[in-house]
Amino acid sequence: MTPAQIEAFFATLQADNPTPRSELEFSTPFELLVAVLLSAQATDASVNKATRRLFAVANTPQAILALGQEGLESYIKTIGLYRSKARHLIETCRILVERYGGEVPRTRAALEALPGVGRKTANVILNVAFGEPTIAVDTHIFRVCNRTGLAPGKTPLEVERKLLERVPEKYLQHAHHWLVLLGRYVCQARKPRCWECKVARWCDYEPKTPAPTR
Ligand code: SF4
Repeated sequence: MTPAQIEAFFATLQADNPTPRSELEFSTPFELLVAVLLSAQATDASVNKATRRLFAVANTPQAILALGQEGLESYIKTIGLYRSKARHLIETCRILVERYGGEVPRTRAALEALPGVGRKTANVILNVAFGEPTIAVDTHIFRVCNRTGLAPGKTPLEVERKLLERVPEKYLQHAHHWLVLLGRYVCQARKPRCWECKVARWCDYEPKTPAPTR
């Protein structure tokens, strides 16, 4: 994609959804961190169902530590990999209390040092909770960037670096959400819904999927 095409691509996504939001429910940076930690290989809906109950009784590192491993597991056991997620979360809460006064740190290095937090999770926290212009490359964004030609790359890190070079600064704040939503609902893995895609004009993917016939 040329710079002019990239501009038009994001202008279209912006016009369609000016203030995109995370589909995970949260009201504090800590709640977002918990939700993102729990969301690996799980749907946002399943995470929201569990965190609604969990946050009603424990939405601070101190309160989750007080629940203990088993107490925490009882709230999240409907989510895949809940045992290891509970272990990571308890350990993360301990570090937040001991080193950061119970607050979520705002630097990439400190976030990535937390158990269960990788580059992608750190990028989500920096972008969504703290408004930093970062882009977390998940499976949806990786696919969309390669198909469209927006930021092709062999690894999520390569795609992330290209995105940061290519996406105009004014779109960086919301680029993550726009691309996730495009990948989740339109540019789907098995069969992209090109016939109803608003950015099809600027997308390199060929042949485009035709509209289904009835
Ligand atoms: S035109 Fe098709 S391949 Fe391109 S972004 Fe849209 S859905 Fe994906």
